[in-house]
Parts: sequence; structure tokens; C-alpha cells
Amino acid sequence: MTAPTQGLALLLLALIVLGFGGFFWRASLLYRLLRLGRDEDRTDSPARRLRDEIVIYLGQRKLLKRPYYVRGVGHALIFWGFLVITYGSADLLLAGLFGRHLPFTDTGLYAWTLDLFAVAVLASVIVAIVRRAVVRPPRMHIAPEGYVILGLISFLMLTLLVFESAGIAAGRLETGVTPPPLAGFLKDLYGGDSSAALFAGGWWAHVVTILAFLVYLPRTKHLHIVTTLPNVYFRSSRPRGALQLIEDIENKETFGAANIRDFSWKQLLDGYTCTECGRCSDNCPALATGKTLDPQKIVLDIRDQLLREGPKLLAHGKAETTPPAHWIETKPDELWACTTCAACVEACPVTIEHIDKIVDMRRSLTLMEGAAPAEAQRAMTNIERAGNPWGEPRETRGDWAHGLEIPTFAEKPDAEYLYFVGCAASYDRRNQRVARALAAILRSAGVSFAILGAAETCNGDPARRMGNEYLWQLQAQQNIETLNAAAVKKVITSCPHCFNTIANEYPQLGGNYEVVHALPLVKRLLDEKRIAMSDGAAAEIVAYHDPCYLGRHNGIYDAPRDVLDAVPGVTRAEIAPHHRERGFCCGAGGGRMWMEEKMGQRVNHRRVEQLLAAKSGATKVASGCPYCLIMLEEGVGAKGVQEQIKPVDVLELVAARLETN
Ligand code: SF4
Ligand code: SF4
Repeated sequence: MTAPTQGLALLLLALIVLGFGGFFWRASLLYRLLRLGRDEDRTDSPARRLRDEIVIYLGQRKLLKRPYYVRGVGHALIFWGFLVITYGSADLLLAGLFGRHLPFTDTGLYAWTLDLFAVAVLASVIVAIVRRAVVRPPRMHIAPEGYVILGLISFLMLTLLVFESAGIAAGRLETGVTPPPLAGFLKDLYGGDSSAALFAGGWWAHVVTILAFLVYLPRTKHLHIVTTLPNVYFRSSRPRGALQLIEDIENKETFGAANIRDFSWKQLLDGYTCTECGRCSDNCPALATGKTLDPQKIVLDIRDQLLREGPKLLAHGKAETTPPAHWIETKPDELWACTTCAACVEACPVTIEHIDKIVDMRRSLTLMEGAAPAEAQRAMTNIERAGNPWGEPRETRGDWAHGLEIPTFAEKPDAEYLYFVGCAASYDRRNQRVARALAAILRSAGVSFAILGAAETCNGDPARRMGNEYLWQLQAQQNIETLNAAAVKKVITSCPHCFNTIANEYPQLGGNYEVVHALPLVKRLLDEKRIAMSDGAAAEIVAYHDPCYLGRHNGIYDAPRDVLDAVPGVTRAEIAPHHRERGFCCGAGGGRMWMEEKMGQRVNHRRVEQLLAAKSGATKVASGCPYCLIMLEEGVGAKGVQEQIKPVDVLELVAARLETN
């Protein structure tokens, strides 16, 4: 491009000042609103955070997941096209002001890239419009501004193609370079002087649209194009299964979140970043079974409340805030419906953290308002009084092991592993059989282990997820003191909730152990040929149900399947499409095991329906979690299919075939 005339450069400068001014004026308000949230340090592990930017933001990894490949590819193409075009836009403004170009913008490679992305983006925009107008996915929030944005993007692509092709017609491309296909085709349509006029018209239309887009963007949900960048960078570095610690809890006066000032700045940033795609809600077992909980709505309610009441708080720091209207109507029901299954967190393409917000609001209900449901309160009182949510006597905790001659750590202080049994396997008769199965496997493999017996107490997971951080810390400290006094180094659990809490949450209070769930350990023992199974059992098909706290929370998908595959006579089946990352919760996590489920269909009944609908021919469904086992047992009983399909733990299948049996 030749150097602009002074008048045009001044006009462009004025437009740039208006465009960027409009953007930064709004951005500064949004930033000040974020600062209303409580502080939270998210600056650790910078290398990991940069890697996330490359993989999740630039690579769009979370977007390109089943079952969203098609719309994921479309969105990714628009995003990548946007990056290329942003570079081109910077070049346009530079050229318009100073007649200079950014590197590579006059190369054939760049012209081809622009051309191909323009076509891909236009195609993706058409698909997006058809999805909104015709398909109308049920959970997707479809607003008129979406069409405005898609219209602006299309117009940008069209004007880009016009001035690129006109530029090529006017000889702007490096000599000897083959013109890109579409711009090359269009250039042949221009004759004589029309290319110069088309170039100028296309160029100005493009530049003005970019600047208008800049002003409009931060006033729409499409701000996520920008906020995803910091949202991914500042995502939690805690393990997914670990809730945030309330530090110095003894001296705190308020707990959890009751209004927007109680959420952290990062939790508020999540609201700016929500794309309203509805993936979280698509995958929520509570919403799917008719509860009022809708994870997308939780995120958007917090955002809307911030935008509505935040300016008032900025003007008068002590101004009153009210909870969002939606919370007032359904807050208790929706918040208590969450099973903390992490299906929403897994599905969200922009790393929004739903569970932390829900648990923070539960903390406020439980610790500030004393408003936990009566059954939840009873379970917490039982944990406090008896060390288990059922309220069974403390001293009978080790009774499941009677006759098995399993030593306690006091009797065998040099044991390599502590088997932390957990409340369910200690007291629930069905799960006691799983504990015995694990003991038999460990014995047969020659693993040196001991238990704590009556010295063990609830790990605290249900209390923490019901919002009672205080009780969780008491339980955790008590177990940590017991483990440290016994000089425990390695812990085995047969319960994913015990595993998650001891491995991922006890380090917050100084309890650091090498923790392994029984199924990855059994897999290792099989690999080391320390477990021998006999081959005589009848052939059977066994479907595997992924426990949320083993799979989504801790990424353990393959080891349980490998163990199942190694069991003689067993053919593994999947509960497709609800398996692995898309596994459907049994309904018991997040303290739901001890709460009544009055609204909609029971989650475990839906799970059994999915199991039957998979038509895998399975006669057993195996899991690796005591809660899942209890819920699946109840589900098959309620559906009257207990003769067709039998819930088991994978460990029981292994133990039944041990050669020593
Ligand atoms: S954690 Fe599970 S139950 Fe809770 S909101 Fe997310 S998807 Fe729904
Ligand atoms: S929270 Fe995430 S998954 Fe849910 S609607 Fe927003 S962007 Fe989509």
C-alpha cells in the first residue's frame, strides 16, 4: 500500500482512537468489577500455565472433544481465523497510518493463509447460523447478539476477500507467487481501474468493521475471545478433585459465598468467559434427571449479578447487594442437587470451575445460615460424633476384618502399606465383601499391609462437599495425626473418595503420603505377575461403570479396564456413550449419598437405564467405588432387573478367581 494522504491518515487515527477508546473504557469497568471479588493467588507454576495457553487456548484442545467434534472444529476454525485476521488487522492499521507493513504480510504464504481461513471461517459461520436457527441445541443460549457477531465476522471475511483480491489485481503480491485460489479467482473479475476503487472500498469497510467490533465485543458474551486467554492462564493448579482450603479457619468470621463480593476475582472472571455453549448443562446428571440445578445458569447468574450490582458497589463500597433472583427462588434445591461429579468442569471448553462456586455457596448455607438439609445435617453430626456418616459405633469400625487376621498398624508397625478402609467398606455389609476381597488379593500377592481398625475415622469428604469445611479439617487433622504417629508412608484405598481426599486434599493440611487406589495397584501387581488367577470360571460380559472420583477427578480410566481385561472369562463392555470422560454419575457424590432425592428421577435409576440401553449383553456391572456399588444395587433393584444384571466391584471379580481360593 502506498503512504496514505495526511487527511485519510488523520481520519483513520480518529477512528482508531474511538475504537480502542470504546474498548478500553468498557474493559476498565469490567476489570474494576473483577476487583470487587476476594483475592486469590493464581500465579504459581508459570510454566504449566504457559503450556495450558498453548494447548487449551491456542490448540483449542477442550473444544475438540466428543461429542462436539463438528461444532468444535467450526469454532476452532473461526478462532484460528480470528488470530490470523487480528495480525492482518494490525498490519492494516499500521499501513493506513504510516504506510508500513508487518513482516510476511506481502508474502504468498500469508495471502494463501488468509484466503483459506476466510473460506473456512465463512463456512463455519454458515454452520453456526444453521445450528442456531434450525437445529437449536436445547441447552445453548441463543440470543440476537450471536447473529450480530456472526454477521460482523462474515462481513469482515467478505471485505477481506475483496481488498485482498483487488490488491492482487493491483500487483501487491510478491512477483512470481501463485495467487491464492479464491482471491485469485475474484481478481480476474476486476477490470481496469475498478481494482483500485474496490481495494479502497473493501479496505475502509474492513477497517471500520474491525473498530466497530472492538467497541461491541466487551459488551457481549463474545468477550470470551479475549477473556479465555487469562481464564486459561489462571485456572486452578490444584488437582481437580481438591477443593480450596479455608486457611486459618479458627479465626474466620464469614465462610463461603452469599453474594458477589464473596466470590474470588477468578470466579468472577469465569462469568466473563462463559461462551453460553451449554456443554456443562448438557452433561449435568442433576439437570438431566429433572433437578433445578443448571451449571451454566450458576455461572451466568453470578456474572449478571456482578454486572447489575457491581457499578453500585464501585460507587459506594458499603452498598448492599442481594443474591441473584434465581438463587432466591431455587438456591437450596439447586445447590444441594450437585453430586460434584465434574461432568461440567470436564465439558467446559474454557476451563470454568463450577464445583468451587457451588461448594462455596454450600459453605455459606451450612456454616453461616445453618441451612443444610436435615439429612445432610444428620450425616455431619454422625461424622462428628461417631466418625462415620451412618452413626455406627466407632469401636466396631474394624469388625469387617474379624477372622481374617489382618493386623492393625499398632500390631505391625513395619507394614509397607496402610489399607485405609473408609466408612462404606467398614460398615456397609455389601461393601465389607469388597474390603475382604482386597485383603485376599493383597495377601495372595504378598503385599505387606495393615489397617487402623477403630483408630481410623471418616476422611471427611462428605462433610467438605456439604460445605462443612470446619468438620472436614477436624477429620483430616485427626487422620493425619494417626497416620503420622504410625509413620505411615504408603496408603491403599478401595474407595475413590478416600483416595481423592487423602491424595489430593490432605497435603493442604500437611498430610503427605504415597496414595494408590486399589485398582491401579492390582494392575501393577498383575504386571509384576504377583497375582495368579485360575481359568475355570464361566465366561461372562461385564460392563464397566466409571466412578467420577476415579475417572474425571483423577484421570484413572485405563487401569480398572486393564484389570477387568485380565480376569479370565471376562469380556469387558462399555456403557457407551456414557463412559470414560462422559461417564454418568451414580448420584452419590458431593454428600448426595446421605440426602434424599425428591425432585425428578433418581440419578442412579437413570444410570441403570443407560446401562440397559447400551445393550452390551452384560450380566454384571463392575465399578471401583463403594458409593457406586450401593447406588447401582439400589438402581437395579428399583428397576426390577436384579436377575439380569448384578453390580459388583472389580476387586470381587479378581478375588473370586485367585488361585489360592
Ligand atoms: S458437578 Fe456434576 S452435578 Fe454438579 S453441576 Fe457439575 S455436572 Fe452438575
Ligand atoms: S460454563 Fe463452560 S460449558 Fe458451561 S456454558 Fe459456559 S462456556 Fe459452556
